[in-house]
Amino acid sequence: MTQPTKKNIAILGSTGSIGKQALDIVKANPDKLQVEVLSAENNADLLIQQAIEFSPNAVVIGNEEKYLYVKEALLTHDIKVYTGADALCQVVQMDSIHMVLAAIVGFAGLRSTLAAIEAGKQIALANKETLVVAGALVTEAAKAKGVNIYPVDSEHSAIFQCLAGEFHNKIEKIILTASGGPFRGKDAAFLKTVKKETALKHPNWSMGAKITIDSATLMNKGLEIIEAAWLFALKAEQIEVVIHPQSIIHSLVQFEDGSIKAQLGLPDMKLPIQYALFYPNRVHSSFKRFDFASYPSLTFEKPDFTVFPAIQLAFDAMKKGGNLPCILNAANEVAVHAFLKDEIGFTDIPAIVEKCMDKGTFTAKPTLSDYMESDKETRALASEFCKSKISA
Ligand code: NAD
Ligand code: MG
Repeated sequence: MTQPTKKNIAILGSTGSIGKQALDIVKANPDKLQVEVLSAENNADLLIQQAIEFSPNAVVIGNEEKYLYVKEALLTHDIKVYTGADALCQVVQMDSIHMVLAAIVGFAGLRSTLAAIEAGKQIALANKETLVVAGALVTEAAKAKGVNIYPVDSEHSAIFQCLAGEFHNKIEKIILTASGGPFRGKDAAFLKTVKKETALKHPNWSMGAKITIDSATLMNKGLEIIEAAWLFALKAEQIEVVIHPQSIIHSLVQFEDGSIKAQLGLPDMKLPIQYALFYPNRVHSSFKRFDFASYPSLTFEKPDFTVFPAIQLAFDAMKKGGNLPCILNAANEVAVHAFLKDEIGFTDIPAIVEKCMDKGTFTAKPTLSDYMESDKETRALASEFCKSKISA
């Protein structure tokens, strides 16, 4: 069988930070990639603009109120327009799609990613919440369908790159690096005073609002611990976090002989996105190159689990398992949203997550509908805690 000359990709969440960078990669590789599907929740204007530029087979606008607007704008183009979460789950199963880039933010990305896996599509996974919430379900489905999940998250891409040629060798542990976010070195009293404007200023990465706040609370690293456990079949004891403020070493793997491999580069998400889209090939890029002389010192610190309790919460959720990571994720999504609306303080975020983990209904072996139910229940619970601003 001859290989298709172009890989047809669906980009779910194409108007977001990851989605837009993925389209830059498509633009730089028009002979290798073809966009089949684009999707967005609300940003109809950008979705229309992207559709006109990249001529996909179909677009999906999540928000049903914007359907007619998008449909009319694309009337003279040969592009199908759909709306709603159910439509997205059907569209990702189209025969012509080879790979789905899951770049929706949050729990909202779970169903479409699962639908793509069910249809046997290869997955480039940015939407870490999918694995945090339902890692067992997602990895089992992927195994059953012979689907590979290629990590897009920079740390997981780093680990994946370190594992090239090492798949038969046992991992002793992995070391996830974290920049430490904008409040590295600050104390608990300072964190109580933090406002969204400063929390949204990440020192090294430009990303969507939710992950930027997660990076400031270090919940992002907590979510990444759980993501790594599922991607690389690791136990909690095999995962370590180190603060590395320069974000040059993207993560490391230590093997049984004590040898450590690391992947380095300037902080630029285009590299891990491109690696996932073209795996196992590396294609030429014009991304800025790292230069050792410009970084005479790469430094490392231990994370402070007391000032930043989110990492410990994630370890606890992961160790107990069941739907606890789903509860952690839903509570965090609600709390981050409330913080972005100035409804709660910065330190309320992990406090609300912890409360929900204490009070939520535990299910040891959840099904998809259990996860849906648990997400819903936790959102209601977390909203109540937000109203009472529990740590104020
Ligand atoms: P973003 O907020 O910039 O974009 C999110 C995208 O998802 C948008 O296109 C939006 O329209 C879509 N979306 C939002 N809610 C939706 C819903 N309910 N239904 C359907 N679509 C919806 O987010 P981002 O920073 O691009 O992050 C996307 C995912 O990638 C997240 O899971 C994040 O953790 C992960 N990630 C991002 C980065 C980064 O550098 N931005 C790095 C690593 C991992
Ligand atoms: Mg990351």
